[in-house]
Amino acid sequence: MERVKSSELKDQLFKLTGEKKPPLFFRAPGRVNLIGEHTDYNDGFVLPIAINLGLRAAVLPSDSPQVRVRSLLMKETRKFFLNQLNETRKTNTWLDYLQGVGLELRKEGHKLKGFQGIFASNLPVGSGLSSSGALEVLTELIFESTSGFGLASLEAVKLCRRAENHFVGVDCGIMDQFASRFGRAKHAIFIDCRELKHEYVPFPKDYKAVVLDTGVRRELSKSSYNQRRRECKEALGFLKKYYPEVKALRGVSLSQLEKHEEDMPPTLRKRARHVVKENERVIEAVDLLKRGNLEGFGKLMNDSHRSLRSDYAVSSKELDKAVNIARGLRGCVGSRLTGAGFGGSTVSLVETTQVKGFVGKIEKLYSEATGFKPKLYVCEAANGAKRIK
Ligand code: ADP
Ligand code: MG
Repeated sequence: MERVKSSELKDQLFKLTGEKKPPLFFRAPGRVNLIGEHTDYNDGFVLPIAINLGLRAAVLPSDSPQVRVRSLLMKETRKFFLNQLNETRKTNTWLDYLQGVGLELRKEGHKLKGFQGIFASNLPVGSGLSSSGALEVLTELIFESTSGFGLASLEAVKLCRRAENHFVGVDCGIMDQFASRFGRAKHAIFIDCRELKHEYVPFPKDYKAVVLDTGVRRELSKSSYNQRRRECKEALGFLKKYYPEVKALRGVSLSQLEKHEEDMPPTLRKRARHVVKENERVIEAVDLLKRGNLEGFGKLMNDSHRSLRSDYAVSSKELDKAVNIARGLRGCVGSRLTGAGFGGSTVSLVETTQVKGFVGKIEKLYSEATGFKPKLYVCEAANGAKRIK
């Protein structure tokens, strides 16, 4: 997708405000997760990259308590008043992400000032590239500048997650916001979601992460996601009988699980198996990446997909088709579903020199196999959110 030029952002802002002052510019990237799926809310490990697609904003601070934003992607202008901000103001629109961030900042005691802004984005919505996380992180950064305070990155990340959990009402883990704020060009981010510590791991320089949006959304994806979260809690409850000190599935080792899984209800056993083994895969994947063993890394991506399909049951016909086609194409070392699943996207690690052929072929083969037109995004590891001077 095309990037909107800064000059166009400026023109749009002038149209919105009628004021010809020099704006402040901000950007916040989306992310793609290489491995470690459904592990973040189990306090586990993930390995995302922030990507070269994201949101951008041109903003004019104002003295009024009004926040007024035009989203070029949504082709809508929306506003709210900071002095009327409270839980009951939920609109069930994209404005909620901004209001949620505002409310959480205010709870922390920050005095917020209003602004007018143009938000542009080349990040598709709902494709598993976390446009919502980028929107929250962008909004928080804007408030920092316009209202004159600074937050440590980790505090900002936690706050943005709370905004999505509390105000928007999506019980997401911390990965999306973390990746958007902490991203680093040419690096993946290995995140320990319990300790909230991270380590940058060089992203292989001759490879790209190619995302394929299957074009299929599952109606029940939200309720199925919540159901998985419940199942993880139940599995944890079962294991706590033997290991009372354990606080999340992250704290259970494979040998501990294997000792008791015979007695677990089959569904819970499978869910726990995925989470416990996926955490091990992430640790191994990081090690392989550091040693430049892309073949081994790709194999773990494939294993991750298998586990998400069989044990976690979040794949779909189309996702399975897409990864199978990808694995048969030249230059692809591994492929798996990425994001929550139930439709959505896959990520494949592909040699840069083969990307063009890969994209052309998979577009054709996937359409022929499923009847859906896929969307493809060639991603590389990018820097996290910042104010652009
Ligand atoms: P994902 O984060 O995987 O892209 P979500 O459903 O979590 O999908 O978040 C998508 C929502 O984020 C959209 O429905 C919209 O409310 C908001 N959003 C994302 N990008 C924009 C944008 N450019 N302008 C306004 N709202 C956006
Ligand atoms: Mg999201």
